[in-house]
Order: sequence, then structure tokens, then C-alpha cells
Amino acid sequence: MANIELKNIVKSYENATPVVNGINLKVNNGEFMVLVGPSGCGKSTTLRMIAGLEEITSGELRIDEKIVNDVSPKNRNIAMVFQNYALYPHMTVYENIAFGLKIAKLPKKEIDDRVREVAKNLEIDYLLDRKPKDMSGGQRQRVALGRAIARRASVYLFDEPLSNLDAKLRVSMRVRLAQLHADLGSQGLDNTMIYVTHDQVEAMTLGHRICVMESGYIRQLDTPLNLYNFPVNKFVAEFIGSPSMNFTSGVLEKKADDYKIKMGDYTCSIPQSKTHKLESYIDKEVIVGVRAEDIFFKLDDDSFGHFVDISVIECLGSEEFIYFNFNDSIFVGRSQEHLNINVGSKNCRFKFNCKNIHIFDAQTKENISLPEDRYLS
Ligand code: ADP
Repeated sequence: MANIELKNIVKSYENATPVVNGINLKVNNGEFMVLVGPSGCGKSTTLRMIAGLEEITSGELRIDEKIVNDVSPKNRNIAMVFQNYALYPHMTVYENIAFGLKIAKLPKKEIDDRVREVAKNLEIDYLLDRKPKDMSGGQRQRVALGRAIARRASVYLFDEPLSNLDAKLRVSMRVRLAQLHADLGSQGLDNTMIYVTHDQVEAMTLGHRICVMESGYIRQLDTPLNLYNFPVNKFVAEFIGSPSMNFTSGVLEKKADDYKIKMGDYTCSIPQSKTHKLESYIDKEVIVGVRAEDIFFKLDDDSFGHFVDISVIECLGSEEFIYFNFNDSIFVGRSQEHLNINVGSKNCRFKFNCKNIHIFDAQTKENISLPEDRYLS
């Protein structure tokens, strides 16, 4: 059982500007929480403060209601997995996994049972006699994972554990990790996990909730789908989703009760549900955001939307990405069907799915088109 609470946590090095700026975060028992953000935003520092590897400058860190700011790492019942595996090179896989259990003075039989069980679950039982140098990156990371899990800690911390692996292996390890979290939970074992990554796909696929960080601040804490559908600002809108959201400038207009957004010579009607914050932006310049899948393409139909001025087409087999020039910006749209067009084609037109567009304040970059109830939460 482990809840973790960060209250106004600040970290600064040698009185310089803080690299973590008073963050508040509650991780529930059994939750898979992901900290995501660009390099240098303070994710690892936050994780290391939770582990006790980094001193907290100010604020309160609680594990199960108890303040642990000054509790040493080994007394926090936390296991951590690092990007560089941090295995003992002179020990075999068996000894690496068993190490923490020996230190905890568990009986020999129990150590042996746990090592073999974990190794079997992670499919590394055939490697138990090998040394780290004789294994691939993926195998080493599974050993590091096994070493953490064997300890049966109350909280597991992961610092970019998959970043050193190639793309294919990253995907399979990601699935394995999600499975591991579920398995621990179904066995009634503690499985609170906090996972740091700069990769938004990892964040979206693993996190029950995701904490999006920038410059030492939490910009949004929410479920993956809410982050995707209701980003509170342009930073989150751009960071979450692949390809990234498209942005261009627009001017907001109101005729009778209808709001419209004009982007060059293209105009979108804004659905009523998105308008309650828009009154003060009428006739002002705003930023418009459109996701790739909210751009529809059609061939040979002059009555459909606007001509696509295509610059690049990327065909991925199951879908294609169409890059085109629009209102002084480069947009990318996603088409599930193969359109059979080329750069320079004159017979393809596009339309936006206007009900899904986002509008941002041009100065503060706040999303001003969320449904009303999202501003209350
Ligand atoms: P992230 O994990 O998001 O990439 P970090 O938490 O590692 O970022 O670092 C946050 C910021 O703190 C960075 O600007 C980094 O340069 C700075 N930083 C990290 N460790 C130290 C240190 N020991 N001394 C000074 N600055 C540091």
C-alpha cells in the first residue's frame, strides 16, 4: 500500500533558479503515473527526490501520509530502474536479482524462489548464469526490471528505462511493463509506479494519469485521453499526440450568435460548446490548433473545402501523412486510405473537422475553447 504526495516541492541547486518549481502531485495506491516533458524540464530530479537520491530544497514529500523528506533511500521501500540499467558487472543475472534480497537478509530458499519466479515471468530464466556484458540491451533492462520487482517494494520508480533500446524492443518492453503492473496488482502485491519519460507515446500508452511538465512546472495532470482531447494550453496540445497538432493564426468573428474563426481565406464555424470563453476575443488574433486526423481529404470534388497545396507525402502502408501549405504554416493531415496523389496534384481538396479545433490565446497560449466544465476541474 503506497500513496505518494508531493506538496510544493522545490529543488534548486546552489541558490540558482529552481529546476523544480513548487510542484503538487498525488499518486494513488496502485496507480501508474507518468511524468513526461522535454529534456531538462525536471522529471528526473522530481523522481530522484521521491527516491531520496536528491535532497528536497523545500516542500513536503509524504509516503502513506508520513513525511519522508529526511528518510534515507533504503528506508523508503522504493525500487528504482534506471536508463543505463545499473547492473553489477561482475555478478551474474542470478546474483544481480538476488542482491537486494540478500541485503534484506531473506532466507536462502525464499531468495531462490523469488529470483526464479521473476526470471521466469520476464523470460530471462535461461540467462541466470550470464554476466551483463554478455547480454543485449533489452536483456539487461529485463534483468534490471527483475531486480526491482523481486524486491517487492511498495513503490517502483522508472527513469527513462526504455530509452537505450531500439524502437521495436521499446514497444515490446512497454507492453511487458504494463502487463507487469497488472500482474502485481492481481497478485495483491504493491504496484504503485512512477515512470519518467520524454516520449509521449510511452506516456500515453502506460500512464493511468500523466503529469506533463515544462521548465520545472506541472502544466497539466490528467488521463491520457483528457490530455489529448482537452489540452489546457498550447504546450500540452503540441507535446501530446503524434504527429503534433498543427497550428496557425486566425481571427475570431461573431455574427448573430455564431462564432467563426477565419484563417486566411478559410473559415470554420465553432460549435456552441466551445464558445463560453470567447466573448473577449472577438475580432482579435488567436492561435488555431487542428489535429492531423481532423483534416479530411477528397479527390475530384470542386465543391469540397479547399485545394491542398501538397509539399510532401509520407506513405506508411496503413495510413499516409500529407504535408501541405496552409495560411503561412505547414500542416500535416492523416489519411487512412491511400489517396493516390503526388506533390503538385491539383485534384485533392481538404476540410477541417471544425467541431474538434482548438483555439488558444495568442499571448498566454491558454486553450480558450474547452467545454465549460473543463475549466472547473
Ligand atoms: P529531465 O529529467 O526532465 O531531463 P532533470 O531533472 O535531469 O531534467 O534536470 C532538470 C534541470 O536541472 C536541468 O536544467 C539540469 O541541467 C539541472 N540539473 C540537474 N542536475 C543538476 C546538478 N547536479 N546541478 C545543477 N543543475 C542540475
